[in-house]
Amino acid sequence: MQIDGKTKTCGLIGDPVAHTLSPVIHNTLAQTRGDDLVYVPLRVEAEHVQKAVEGAYALSLTGLNVTVPHKSAVIPYLVDIDPLAEKIGAVNTLVRQEGGFKGYNTDMPGLLRAMQSEGITVKEQSVLLLGAGGAARAVAFLCMSEGAKEILLYNRTMEKAERVAKEAEAAFGRSCIRVISKEELLQLTGSYLAIQCTSVGLYPNVDDVIVQEDALYEKIHTGVDLIYRPYETMFMKKVKAHGGKTMNGLKMLLYQGIIAYELWNKCEVSEETAAHILQKMKEELGIHE
Ligand code: NAP
Repeated sequence: MQIDGKTKTCGLIGDPVAHTLSPVIHNTLAQTRGDDLVYVPLRVEAEHVQKAVEGAYALSLTGLNVTVPHKSAVIPYLVDIDPLAEKIGAVNTLVRQEGGFKGYNTDMPGLLRAMQSEGITVKEQSVLLLGAGGAARAVAFLCMSEGAKEILLYNRTMEKAERVAKEAEAAFGRSCIRVISKEELLQLTGSYLAIQCTSVGLYPNVDDVIVQEDALYEKIHTGVDLIYRPYETMFMKKVKAHGGKTMNGLKMLLYQGIIAYELWNKCEVSEETAAHILQKMKEELGIHE
């Protein structure tokens, strides 16, 4: 591609950023659509977040993605914030506007679009949420806003699960989250959409799984794992072995990127282009299906 004085620049701030797939998403999108845009990962240490956001605006960047550990830290330096991002308390996309950046959260709409593309719905479902970190918290908010029937929340550290439940219920003014212990998890009787939001099983610890016991997997009709390295996690293997449907986190990553790109460029990315980008991401990960 040709870079000149009219080329728009976008980037990713976080720490670390060395292994991110985001440049594959955005630079392939720009090439495929013929947009004059480049996307660059930019490592920013925690003490420089304010300077980075203000500096990006001063340098006329069109937009930024924000990844761990800065998703909440950037919020004080924005001129505006989308209501969903404000509710979740985490921003992963900054869009340039008059005077500064507006913050959005495209992780959650990204997960929703990814699940929809696989025919997985949250509405009226009994959801089993595993984890209580940043991702699980946002997924709890998504399940609340999408009208899940009930949400059972399990996490190694129960106090963190209690906190997530309290915050999500306060944000939506309705109580439908029940924090459960490992014993309760293994004694469930219903059939669940399970969303695995912990980092257990992430490369290189590919044999690890949040819960070993078959008693859990017998109750899962659909298992979504936010992890995509490995492409099929041990959690997914166990769900599959018990006849459940599975999805990994790669399409969530794809669609959070696509939604960010749509916000920066005021455009709509077609499903055909989305499929092409997904293929490029798989190639980058060395996945041949
Ligand atoms: P985080 O805030 O650090 O939370 C980590 C979670 O994993 C906590 O619930 C933690 O439990 C649990 N955990 C970690 N080690 C554990 C262990 N040995 N045994 C039991 N539980 C353990 O991380 P996060 O930002 O929420 O991210 C979680 C995962 O989601 C990561 O693998 C990340 O790659 C993935 N993710 C994917 C996407 C995507 O686009 N596909 C987006 C965001 C995140 P405690 O509370 O007990 O410590």
